[in-house]
Amino acid sequence: MISERIEQLRKELPANVKLLAVSKFQPLEKLLEAYQCGQRLFGENRPQELALKAVQMPQDVEWHFIGHLQTNKLKMVLPYAALVESVDSRHLLDAINDWGEVHDKVISVLLEMHIGAEETKQGFYEEEVLDILFDADKFKYIRFCGLMGMASHTDDEEMIRADFTRIASYLDYLRDLFPELTDFTELSIGMSEDWPIAVGCGSTEVRIGSAIFGAREKL
Ligand SMILES: *Cc1c(COP(=O)(O)O)cnc(C)c1O
Repeated sequence: MISERIEQLRKELPANVKLLAVSKFQPLEKLLEAYQCGQRLFGENRPQELALKAVQMPQDVEWHFIGHLQTNKLKMVLPYAALVESVDSRHLLDAINDWGEVHDKVISVLLEMHIGAEETKQGFYEEEVLDILFDADKFKYIRFCGLMGMASHTDDEEMIRADFTRIASYLDYLRDLFPELTDFTELSIGMSEDWPIAVGCGSTEVRIGSAIFGAREKL
């Protein structure tokens, strides 16, 4: 079941688009089923759950952290995550940089942008991203790898496409403005419901949970 869904997604996704299997709230058996059909890229959004699963799963899994991260939880995330996709404040970025300095480790991050219509959505506005990247060389222990975003929660495809187009254009703009940031290439957009639109807008990674693992148990 899980393997069939992953195979199907692999067929439909262009070769340059990575598939992040979002395994939050899912039991280990389901992650192992995905692993057994070759899935290595997994996404979690709660620090404790990531830390636990990272030691339980095979060691060649690549973990991405996609949830809200508080600075007092860094030690549960940064030892395991190959990429923190959800950096949404300068305060957090400073804390990650400090952690990196202490542990002599460069942390790869995406900057999460506020692109949806919802007031509550986390993420940076365009000017804030610009301010950070102008200071990029102050963050010696951060590798800036691109942008992440979530579209408005709506059935209106045109609205979703407008959100994704805006973040994709902004990535292009930033790459032109900061050519020295050679790793700044990733665009993490697209989830179970809207990934085909995201791929059409230039996604380099789709984050898919329920369309692989089925419904999550709500806590
Ligand atoms: C849960 C989650 C996803 C996956 O959502 P689905 O709709 O189940 O595919 C993707 N991105 C983020 C940031 C999430 O929290």
